[in-house]
Amino acid sequence: MYCREDLISKIVEYGRRCGEKNYSPGYSGNISARFEDGMLITVSGSANGYLKEDEIVYTNFSGQSLEEGKKPSSEKFLHIEIYKKRQDINFIIHVHSPYLSSFASAGKDLMEPVMAENVFYFGGIPLAEYALPSSMELVYNTAKYFDEYDAVLMANHGFITASSTIEDAYMKLELAETYAQVVLNTQLLGGAKVLSKKQAKEIFDLRV
Ligand SMILES: [Zn+2]
Repeated sequence: MYCREDLISKIVEYGRRCGEKNYSPGYSGNISARFEDGMLITVSGSANGYLKEDEIVYTNFSGQSLEEGKKPSSEKFLHIEIYKKRQDINFIIHVHSPYLSSFASAGKDLMEPVMAENVFYFGGIPLAEYALPSSMELVYNTAKYFDEYDAVLMANHGFITASSTIEDAYMKLELAETYAQVVLNTQLLGGAKVLSKKQAKEIFDLRV
């Protein structure tokens, strides 16, 4: 397992990558890593793309900061709920990346099988119902999709993905954001040729 310093440097590194690719503009988004009986999470008001090592706070699963003077992200309960629900998940990345946020803000999910790669990696990307940011309603509306999926659009808000490793969570973000861009482009080109149920199932079955 990773030590605390390793986890902090991974969060800083992948936060920077999110910033460089404009997946996490300005102050938007937050990142966490499961650690001991709680998690290490970016502090309230931090910017994923420009994190300093002291902008990550050890927080317990009651949502309390275990470091004096440091306040965890206001979305801490969403991260906690996903960690509680899924023991296989060790890292969570939440961003407001432009293409995924466009779908989320248009009230459109990404469940249709358009690109084989997306079916393979995600099955689909569902859209969680809108709730006020940082509310418990947002936590329940969003976390429930992690029973079946590893990546979820959040209506009028953004996107969240989770995995056993931060490398994989970041790859899923990169794939999903590019996928959203492709789906939008297909609409300019007259609409996507959606894969049949049979074709989608064949791809999905390659996973096992
Ligand atoms: Zn957000």
